[in-house]
Amino acid sequence: MQRFVAGRGADEVLRVSRDLADDGLAVSLDHLGGDTRTIEQAVATRDEYLAVLGRLRDLALTPAVEVSVKLSALGQRIDEKLAYEHARAVCAAAVEAGTTVTLDAEDHSTTDATLETLLELRKDFPSTGAALQAHLRRTEGDCRELATAGSRVRLCKGAYTEPESVAFQSPLDVDKSFVRCLNILMSGEGYPMVATHDPRLIAIAEDRARWFDRSTGEYEFQLLYGVRPEEQARLAASGHTVRVYLPYGEQWYGYLMRRLAERPANLGVLARAVTST
Ligand code: FAD
Repeated sequence: MQRFVAGRGADEVLRVSRDLADDGLAVSLDHLGGDTRTIEQAVATRDEYLAVLGRLRDLALTPAVEVSVKLSALGQRIDEKLAYEHARAVCAAAVEAGTTVTLDAEDHSTTDATLETLLELRKDFPSTGAALQAHLRRTEGDCRELATAGSRVRLCKGAYTEPESVAFQSPLDVDKSFVRCLNILMSGEGYPMVATHDPRLIAIAEDRARWFDRSTGEYEFQLLYGVRPEEQARLAASGHTVRVYLPYGEQWYGYLMRRLAERPANLGVLARAVTST
């Protein structure tokens, strides 16, 4: 489990965050909650983020550590307004702690609602960021909308299985879309956050950053905790900002299974993790 997840609770994730920060890496914490079906679960997720943000501030781990949030975990499926209010509370706590929030991207049926929430949040909390998924056909347009000054956009391939009507299906088409989106974000005025482990796309992002004359503080790379750690160190040593997406929480099992589904080569690591937990 510890290879890909910091641990079950805040103590463990704060300890790992400190180690990563000491290694010169930035961090985005992600609380792994269950499937939020009740208001009580949504409130508990909000409170978990508020508590961890308070501790990040007290431990002087900000601004190196920010938080990633799924609006579904804050109650989006129960009541969009409730999720928005919870997200506002998390953003306010992040500002108080001297850091930022990024909204994770979930399946395509939530994209409109998530981007509307982002626009509302950015009125009061302009540093709030959002993830966009290159596999969705709409994402080039969303990149154009969001490539504006102060806008933080995480570009990833997309982790959800989506129908052909809304998403590119072949890996090549997804990669081509990723590059088109990257071009828009790197040539725009926002702050691109390039979230991939793909060596070819990382090399293209490095090239585009040079081409569009961006200094190393004007974009960042993001990789998942435990995935290609040697590449994380290489990028950081070359002067890039590298942010590690660091999940923690009681519901770690589903997260590990998703990593396995993406890369069966990790089966050995995961089997050992599951049997030792
Ligand atoms: P892949 O197509 O999976 O892999 C391409 C190549 O990368 C591989 O051929 C291999 O060379 C290398 N590689 C990949 N994994 C490994 C590994 N474990 N070990 C060694 N080499 C490897 N998805 C969402 O839907 N919403 C989000 O909000 C979201 N946030 C994310 C945040 C971060 C920081 C990251 C890194 C990913 C996020 N994702 C999110 C997941 C993302 O959409 C992809 O599902 C996931 O990153 C796998 O795609 P990839 O870009 O790494 O390329």
